[in-house]
Amino acid sequence: MFELAKQRLASVFKYIDVDEEVIERLSVAKRSIIASIPVRMDNGELKIFTGYRVQYDDTRGPTKGGIRYHPRVNLDEVTSLSFWMTVKCAVAGLPFGGAKGGVMVNPKELSRLELERLSRGYIRAFADIIGETRDIPAPDVYTNSTIMGWMADEYSVISRRQVPSVITGKPVHLGGSEGRESATGQGALHALNEYARRQGCQKSDTTIAVQGFGNVGYHFARLAKKEGYRIVALSDSQGAIYSSSGLNVEDVYTYKQQESKLASVYCDGTVCNMLDYETITNEELLTLDVDVLVLGALENQVSQLNAHQIKAKTILEIANGPVTPQADEVLEANGVNVIPDVLANSGGVIVSYFEWVQNRSGLYWEKAEVKAKLQKVMQKESNIIYDLALRHQCSLRTAAYIHGIERLAGAIDERGNRK
Ligand code: GLU
Repeated sequence: MFELAKQRLASVFKYIDVDEEVIERLSVAKRSIIASIPVRMDNGELKIFTGYRVQYDDTRGPTKGGIRYHPRVNLDEVTSLSFWMTVKCAVAGLPFGGAKGGVMVNPKELSRLELERLSRGYIRAFADIIGETRDIPAPDVYTNSTIMGWMADEYSVISRRQVPSVITGKPVHLGGSEGRESATGQGALHALNEYARRQGCQKSDTTIAVQGFGNVGYHFARLAKKEGYRIVALSDSQGAIYSSSGLNVEDVYTYKQQESKLASVYCDGTVCNMLDYETITNEELLTLDVDVLVLGALENQVSQLNAHQIKAKTILEIANGPVTPQADEVLEANGVNVIPDVLANSGGVIVSYFEWVQNRSGLYWEKAEVKAKLQKVMQKESNIIYDLALRHQCSLRTAAYIHGIERLAGAIDERGNRK
């Protein structure tokens, strides 16, 4: 996956003049660490989990990026995700480099206490390399504010002082920021709004299918519906639902929560038993004839296998890496515009930055202030990228990479000989 991720780097060099050494620097991760995390399970047994943290590049500031809990987490995936975080933070103009972490685990099989012990164990394993001015983790797939709260607490215990700014995405009661929970979905909506405005699209005429109904997919769908877009399909890992006249997103969310049998921090309910709507498969959702296909699940969902079947006019990537580089070529040839992950899902890390700033200053902002600041950054960076794509006659992804790499290359160059 990382080799594929790097192809995106290569694509920008025909548009901008970048020093060879900068390219070399950006082609490898600065530091990758694998650690074993021993956890005492509820039945008394000891289980060893494998944890990862990759700090990709810190030229623009302390490294930043989430921690993922998933059975298929591996070093290649975490490295790719840390590379994307590096580009994303640069695209958003944040004073951060990029990192990512993960644990190979199916978190839904753990009790709440086991999950807490694993999360505290992760921090003990990586406490020497993270820090408020070094590397600042956050939530990602299957981690959330509750887990960030435990992690921040463990770090404070280890360092014998309160350090809320070491982790973002915490619960509001523990120094989290207002508006962080919905920030990724909200940011993606700003990117889409700017795009739609420039294309002259009417929100009420725009149909949207959303793959993935986790934190990001849910908030995006909820907010997009509130703004007048028509959400015609939604999916989760177990299946999808469709209604040409539009779905009631809040009802679907409530239904999914009620369906859940897990009494832990996760929900295992599914949208697809909801009888009010037609049930379709995840594959069918991807190939629906809609205006916007929103990808909010995992990587590699649109590949050379299904790219030619995509009928949507625009893809909005709210997950990281959901479209492969080979699929990009097919989509471009077929006139499908992709609003890329490094722009579309940057709202999460932007509000993470606001959280870090609030923690470090000790002054907390109201939700309206957070929302206004997020909107300002998203509108500004989206329009820079949409303008670049017009100027260079290139894809939105290439334009986003041009924008991010120019900022990164500038920083690497101006740092001088440390490289
Ligand atoms: N995991 C999120 C992402 O992929 C958020 C990272 C952060 O807030 O640091 O952008």
